[in-house]
Amino acid sequence: MIALPTEPLQIEEPAALRRNDLRPNLIGLSRAGLEGTLAEAGLEPFRARQVWHWIYWHGVTDFGRMTNIARPVRERLAELFRIDRPGIASEQRSADGTRKWLLRFEDGNEAETVNIPEADRGSVCVSSQVGCTLTCSFCHTGTQKLVRNLTPAEIVGQFMVARDSYGEWPTPIETTRMLSNIVMMGMGEPLYNFDNVAQALRIVMDDQGIALGRRRITLSTSGVVPMIPRVGVELDVNLAVSLHAVTDEVRDLLVPINKKWPIAELLAACAAYPGAKNSRRITFEYTMLKGVNDSDQDARELVRLLVPLHAKVNLIPFNPWPGAPYECSSNNRIHRFAEIVNNGGLSAPVRTPRGRDILAACGQLRSASERARRPTS
Ligand code: SAH
Ligand code: SF4
Repeated sequence: MIALPTEPLQIEEPAALRRNDLRPNLIGLSRAGLEGTLAEAGLEPFRARQVWHWIYWHGVTDFGRMTNIARPVRERLAELFRIDRPGIASEQRSADGTRKWLLRFEDGNEAETVNIPEADRGSVCVSSQVGCTLTCSFCHTGTQKLVRNLTPAEIVGQFMVARDSYGEWPTPIETTRMLSNIVMMGMGEPLYNFDNVAQALRIVMDDQGIALGRRRITLSTSGVVPMIPRVGVELDVNLAVSLHAVTDEVRDLLVPINKKWPIAELLAACAAYPGAKNSRRITFEYTMLKGVNDSDQDARELVRLLVPLHAKVNLIPFNPWPGAPYECSSNNRIHRFAEIVNNGGLSAPVRTPRGRDILAACGQLRSASERARRPTS
């Protein structure tokens, strides 16, 4: 477990909130959207290409630094527009490089972003919604009501805040760096906010900007079956599926969306996902809950269900939260379960407590901050 400092390192309101700034933010617009917006201001398409490169390749937040654009044009841009990230309500840093941000958006809502560096990469865990409409019974976010969908600017802005924090601008050429991957595994169900998530991911994949390859992006869904084909066709990123149970009876309790789209339908959608059986193997997430889904029989059934898909399995030790109705399976149980799954021919790494500790805390930082801000009367 890593000890993260409990005191926030910085508190920074979103710039626009501080200034009561009504200028539109250019972050989050699609390429065509940026071209259209600048055209309305009388600027030609090549200006949009220059501005895009400055924003997403160089990471600048100040039009004054766009040195290949003539000064009068820069001044006009600055009069009309802004380039703003979400504000940072708090940032926690651990000794091993892991960082976690609680971001505050312009309307005061908050969501979390975490970066988990590993030996050869760093995965930024990005949120798609404030809260979640789904009510998975082991997930802390599931106890919070959906407040709203995040906008493309707020989704791409999470990754940009992470790059600011590590000073990784301009876009690095080498692939091994602190922020090499994005996992849509923060708060919220990304497939219930598909259009905004897709627009944000297209921005991060654009090779004239942040330039993350689609193989470096993983979208995790609780199983919104009708949307899975669109992820394949429109984004073609890696897919992760929150399975967590091998029978509909148990999955109905853990991931209630299962009542709408049960396991057989979910697995059929996964089998049809482009490249699922060879180069683009799907990851199935399986949170280990003591006495609920962790028996030898469960492990054997998991193998039976997933071998035809050539899937990968991610075994996640349950991260408890106050009032949670479950406990984490014992270490021995998790390792025995993993052994059965591995012997069955599936790769089944167990997430280390360290990574789990930070990831699973998603949803908790925001609640703590809400408590702190609530009047005590
Ligand atoms: N809403 C998306 C992204 C979720 S977060 C989804 O459900 O797929 C990433 C993973 O962490 C999901 O598999 C989720 O089920 C799991 N998770 C949530 N809370 C957890 C907890 N307290 N302990 C362990 N895993 C948890
Ligand atoms: Fe929402 Fe995912 Fe949590 Fe389920 S596991 S409540 S879908 S965030």
